[in-house]
Amino acid sequence: MKKYKVGIVGATGMVGQRFITLLENHPWFDITVLAASARSAGKKYKDVGGKRWMMDQPFSEKTGEMVIMNATDDVEKIASMVDFVFCAVDMKKDEIKALEEEYARHECPVVSNNSAHRHTPDVPMVIPELNPEHIDIIPSQRKRLGTKRGFVAVKSNCSLQSYVPAIFPLNRFGVKDVLVCTYQAISGAGKNFDTWPEMIDNVIPYIGGEEEKSEIEPLKIYGKIEGDVIVPATEPHFTAQCIRVPVSNGHMGAVFVRFENKPSKEEILKIWQEFKGVPQELNLPSAPKQFLNYFTEDNLPQTKLQRDLEGGMAVSIGRLREDTQYDYKFVCLSHNTLRGAAGGAVLLAELLCAKGYMD
Ligand code: NAP
Repeated sequence: MKKYKVGIVGATGMVGQRFITLLENHPWFDITVLAASARSAGKKYKDVGGKRWMMDQPFSEKTGEMVIMNATDDVEKIASMVDFVFCAVDMKKDEIKALEEEYARHECPVVSNNSAHRHTPDVPMVIPELNPEHIDIIPSQRKRLGTKRGFVAVKSNCSLQSYVPAIFPLNRFGVKDVLVCTYQAISGAGKNFDTWPEMIDNVIPYIGGEEEKSEIEPLKIYGKIEGDVIVPATEPHFTAQCIRVPVSNGHMGAVFVRFENKPSKEEILKIWQEFKGVPQELNLPSAPKQFLNYFTEDNLPQTKLQRDLEGGMAVSIGRLREDTQYDYKFVCLSHNTLRGAAGGAVLLAELLCAKGYMD
């Protein structure tokens, strides 16, 4: 298989660092460009990113020697050097929207972690196991942008990457109402305990914008392509409270769900066990073999024990039981910077390659 040349826009950030660890030995992708703000541009990665490196695994010597390019001023040059870019930058929403479309207009596809384009109607927002067919909106987006290759595809917010995968395959029973409380890691804010010591021994009951994302984004994932746009679904109804807790990585969700036709517990467990998506069928390099994993022990899944399951790309579920107000309740867990951010974007890029959108 041909190797694709890829750029990482926002390479010095928390998500950018994750991209580096995932891509350095990737069978399909070669890191060709690292880009960040004007503050970092022109310097070697080891002199900038190295000082802020938060991953357990170190970056390679080759990466350390790469000279960082300017993500906003060098778009044309970067686009000419790569087959596509991953994007994870901390900028204003309007600026990110414009920047991602600029790359696309220079015929450079963008696989984005940013929220800026999640609600653009012709931009697919994809969890590859759930709604891979949404990438078929790309020809419509290319028509709007006037491009042959260039487009923007995004992944959804990290908060919902545990409970939406668990609920989605149960749709045949008519999922009506979902109530979720999320317990979210501090890496979701680009922080660790050194950079955010106030989080030690603490819980903060507010994460700006997170509850809206957790309630609204699932409806686009449940949506359908109609003409040149993706029309969001109107059901299920989601309500969420999102809470920051003192863990480094891993978002946990406590979920309550009501169905039109209540399934048995055994039916739910069988569906989770047997669930496979297109990434598993295509055997994509970053796809977990078993996406949904149910643990029968009462005290599992635990953030620290299960977040790295299948390279942090699998979802862990436990404590499924009947509820007095809803039909069922359960807990679920996913790694927020792997499945929920860089890993989810890499899997999406693999899907786009396998389906010919990066050629
Ligand atoms: P971060 O650690 O603050 O990193 C931000 C990156 O953006 C750095 O590479 C920075 O470069 C670059 N940047 C900032 N201003 C720029 C500018 N004006 N022009 C070009 N580059 C600029 O942020 P993060 O946590 O990685 O998050 C990045 C994005 O991913 C955000 O949109 C975030 O919402 C999203 N996201 C994060 C997570 C997570 O778990 N952390 C999960 C899902 C999505 P310099 O180093 O040169 O300043």
